[in-house]
Amino acid sequence: MTDYDYDLFVIGAGSGGVRASRIAEGHGARVAVAEEHRIGGTCVIRGCVPKKLLVYASAFAEELQDTARLGWTFGGMRFDWTALRDFVSSDVARLEKAYIDTLDAHGIARFQERATVAGPNKVRLASGREISARYILIAVGAWPVVPEFPGNQWAITSNEVFHLETLPERVVIQGAGYIAMEFASIFNALGAKVTMVSRSDRILRGYDESLTERLLKITRARGIDFHFHDPIVRADRQDDGSLLVGLEGGERIAADIMLVAAGRRPKTKGLGLENAGITLGDAGEVPVDRHNATCCPSIYAVGDVTNRIQLTPVAIREGQAFADTVFGRAPRVVSYDHVPNVVFSQPPLAGVGLTEAQARAQGLKIAIFTSDFRPMKNMFSTRVERGFYKLVVDADSERVLGVHMIGPDTPEILQAVAIAVKAGLTKADFDATMALHPSMAEELVLMHSAA
Ligand code: NDP
Repeated sequence: MTDYDYDLFVIGAGSGGVRASRIAEGHGARVAVAEEHRIGGTCVIRGCVPKKLLVYASAFAEELQDTARLGWTFGGMRFDWTALRDFVSSDVARLEKAYIDTLDAHGIARFQERATVAGPNKVRLASGREISARYILIAVGAWPVVPEFPGNQWAITSNEVFHLETLPERVVIQGAGYIAMEFASIFNALGAKVTMVSRSDRILRGYDESLTERLLKITRARGIDFHFHDPIVRADRQDDGSLLVGLEGGERIAADIMLVAAGRRPKTKGLGLENAGITLGDAGEVPVDRHNATCCPSIYAVGDVTNRIQLTPVAIREGQAFADTVFGRAPRVVSYDHVPNVVFSQPPLAGVGLTEAQARAQGLKIAIFTSDFRPMKNMFSTRVERGFYKLVVDADSERVLGVHMIGPDTPEILQAVAIAVKAGLTKADFDATMALHPSMAEELVLMHSAA
């Protein structure tokens, strides 16, 4: 492979791109990577990692209150947003450095500038330099969508929310998906007045409705307001720097920030894929086959830019599969069945496999088992928040097709349950497993039919 400057040029140093670079290098390829923002990509720099730190920090607000019933008193407690923001920022910098060190340790050339596709085997850097490569991997991820309305220039997205100067007192959030629900919980727990505004009547489309109904009830009880079928139609900046957010129904809401979380679109604008004969899909995605190959034999794509499942572990598996297939001569295909998913709201919501609605839509004969319980952890608190677990089971084979949970610590429980569901275990296998008492997870093996 000596006709080209590199065997592999990766555009985008996020989770998928970095994994692919490292594994390809391990298979003997000469690899270069270009990144126009910070090394690490969405998850590390402006997504899962900093978000999870905010989730942890905000959860302390209620946990510290709950300790009063357990005999604890604290004097002079106060919350300092700047201290949290700066800690999160320093941790992100630590991880970014770890990613850079990994690339450098593997001898992967780094170009910290934008790269575009100039041809099937050619990339062009922002500096004008052209580099040839036998293969090009597109791993540029996705970018937040900001819907059109007058005043949308005052909106912030998940890109900016980690850098706020002060903790806002009044937050308007557009959208009712992952990012909207997670930041609603964070700001609510930290004491802000949160108003959520959605164009439809659903939160978290795709999640089991028993869970989303429960989350809606709980978040309302926690003081979060919802406006359904009432999208933002305009926003005006006031003299004092605050915003007045106008909704379709006529209401105007005063806010310190307006966070837009209306989905993320593949970041392909101006990427030059047409120079390699690649036509983008309707959502701007790079169409690929099950081997992450585009219609151009030298160009592959992994991660959010392909608009399959926008999750970090999925991008990592795709990057690994690409590198093993193309450079390791060990073809690998990613399985998209039973991908566990979680919303880090308070309480969190977690699911794997088919929801009840999906199973019914497929015409499957199913049995539903549920547990509606008061988690022991909530006994300490004054909040009467009940947990809810649901098993979707194939009526004939008894195989567990899906597990869906809302309640404390469900993300930590779900990963283990996902192994059981992926392995095709049956309801009888769940029931034969001894309960672990006292725990919340024991509900999984003590479930009764909902019929
Ligand atoms: P989601 O797709 O989860 O939700 C988008 C929300 O925006 C929905 O409520 C949708 O409404 C609404 N919406 C879409 N288009 C418009 C529009 N034009 N005007 C007004 N509202 C609109 O997107 P997010 O931005 O929250 O997150 C992006 C992705 O990032 C997620 O899909 C997920 O893959 C990933 N993510 C995962 C997390 C996790 O694993 N915990 C955390 C954060 C992000 P409607 O329902 O009516 O379509």
